[in-house]
Amino acid sequence: AKRDGGGVARRFDPVLFAKAEQRRLAEQDLMRGLEAGEFEVHYQPIVDLDQGGITVGVEALVRWRHPEKGLVPPALFLDLAEQLGQVPRLGGWVLEEACRQALTWQDRHPGFEMNVNLSASQLTNPNLIDEVREVLERTGLPPRDLVLELTESVALTDLVESARVLSQLKELGVRIALDDFGTGFSSLSHLSTLPVDVVKIDRSFVQAMPETGGASVAEAVLHIARTFNLSPVAEGVEDAGQAERLKDLGAGRAQGYHFARPMPAIGVTELLDKQSAE
Ligand code: C2E
Ligand code: CA
Ligand code: CA
Ligand code: CA
Repeated sequence: AKRDGGGVARRFDPVLFAKAEQRRLAEQDLMRGLEAGEFEVHYQPIVDLDQGGITVGVEALVRWRHPEKGLVPPALFLDLAEQLGQVPRLGGWVLEEACRQALTWQDRHPGFEMNVNLSASQLTNPNLIDEVREVLERTGLPPRDLVLELTESVALTDLVESARVLSQLKELGVRIALDDFGTGFSSLSHLSTLPVDVVKIDRSFVQAMPETGGASVAEAVLHIARTFNLSPVAEGVEDAGQAERLKDLGAGRAQGYHFARPMPAIGVTELLDKQSAE
C-alpha cells in the first residue's frame, strides 16, 4: 500500500484500475472513430396508416461502423460522446447528412419528411439556430419537411429556455416533435406552452395495448395529442394487430419493426422505388 500526504493507506484496487483503464480506452476509441469518420446515418420509415402504410418520411438514427465491433447502436456510445462534449459536433454532422439525403428522395417524392433527433446539449448550444439555418440553406431542403425531435425530459428541463429556442427554430419553418411522448406525464400541464407540432407516442404504450381492444394508455395519449392539436406518430409498432388498432384509434402515422427497421439510405431508395412502381 502507498501512503499519500495525509497518511492514509491506499491500496491498489485492480477492479477500479481495470474500470478506469477500460473507460480510457473507450474514450480513445470513440475519439479515434469520430476523427476517422466512422459514423453512418440509418433511416427508419415512418408510414401513413390511413394511406395503406405508405412511407411518407424517415427518422435519421446514427450508428458507429466500428472496424472491429461492426455496427454499434447509439445506446452504446451516445452517453460517452455526450460526456466528451462531442454530441453537438456529431449531431451537426447527422443533421447535414440527413438533410442532404432527404433532398435526393424529394426529387421523386416532394414533401418527403426527415426527422432528426436533438440531444439536450444541442438544444442548449447557442449555435443551434444558425447551424440549422445554414444546413437548410446549404442543402436546399424545404424547412417544413424537417422535423426536429426532442424528448420531453430534454424540452422540459428548462421550460422557458426551451420555449425560446423552439420558437426560434419554428421561425425557420421547421417542425418540432416531442419524442417518447407520455413518459414524462408530470409535465403535461406545460405542454401547451411549448411550440410543438408532432408527438411521438412512446413504444412502451404501443406495446402495452391490450390484444382485444379495450382502454389503453396509447388511446389516452392519442386523446391528449388531439386535445393539444398535435399530430401523433406511434412508435415501436411490431405487429399487424397493433397497426390495425392504432389506425382505428386515429393514430395517423406509425413507425416500427412491423413496417421497416432502420436501414442504410440505399434501402430507403429501393423501398421508395418499389412503392412508386405499385
Ligand atoms: P428514439 O429516438 O426513440 O428512436 C427510436 C429507437 O427505437 C431506435 O433505436 C429504433 O431503432 C428503435 N425502434 C424502432 N422501431 C422499433 C420497434 O418496433 N421495436 C423496438 N423495440 N424498437 C424499435 P436506436 O436507433 O438504437 O436509437 C436509440 C436512441 O438513440 C434513439 O431513440 C435516440 O434517442 C438516440 N439517437 C439515435 N440517433 C440519434 C442522433 O442522431 N442524435 C441523437 N441526439 N440521438 C440519437
Ligand atoms: Ca426519436
Ligand atoms: Ca422515441
Ligand atoms: Ca427513446
